[in-house]
Amino acid sequence: MDTGALLVILGKQGAGKGTQCVMLSRYYAIPHISSGDMLRSNVRQKTPLGLKAKQAMDAGELIPDEIVTEMIKARLLQDSALSTGFILDGFPRTALQAEALDEFISPNKLDAVINLDVPQATVIKRLASRRVCQDCQAVYSTSMPPKINWTCDVCGGEVVQRDDDTESSIIRRLELYDKETYPLIDYYTNANLLKNINGVGSTDAVLRRSIKAIDTALKLRYK
Ligand code: AMP
Repeated sequence: MDTGALLVILGKQGAGKGTQCVMLSRYYAIPHISSGDMLRSNVRQKTPLGLKAKQAMDAGELIPDEIVTEMIKARLLQDSALSTGFILDGFPRTALQAEALDEFISPNKLDAVINLDVPQATVIKRLASRRVCQDCQAVYSTSMPPKINWTCDVCGGEVVQRDDDTESSIIRRLELYDKETYPLIDYYTNANLLKNINGVGSTDAVLRRSIKAIDTALKLRYK
């Protein structure tokens, strides 16, 4: 049986991955699986994983590879996401995670890896002004707040600043991106999967660029 699109999105924190993923997941009718959202939900529910992860997350550190890999693997198996397809956001983030992903989706293969490219100065500005709905994760900013008093326009939840969107944590997360995640650009270039997308511009313009690149990759499946 044919699977749905198997996609990964890479990009610095604040590049707009979450926003693009929500739209790409609707467009391709595939689940958006965000490791950060899953971890934050564990923190809110005070699960053993959440209690373990909170301190590292607030400081901008990474959660150990084995823990995150197990969490994503379980999620992909749980909803037979391997047959429906998926867009992974925030995972993989290290070379070990990328290798583990290849292994556990085998014999399937990823169709494309989108790399949302946004200059460092832009992401720092976006992260400092970012505000997020605690319940549905809709993203706002101090310059584009919800209509009524920091109450989410989508679900009515409370819109807040993320605990890890502090200056020291932002600096640490961007450092770790360069050290641990940037090498994945080479990994996926060598696998012929990388699609560099200019992430500057309106949400719709960036979406159109991503869809064009993904559609081209999906056509390769049927060659
Ligand atoms: P994000 O929402 O993707 O920015 O993730 C928020 C935080 O969750 C990160 O700063 C890490 O502490 C943790 N995290 C999310 N995904 C991963 C991952 N794949 N590997 C390690 N830590 C992760």
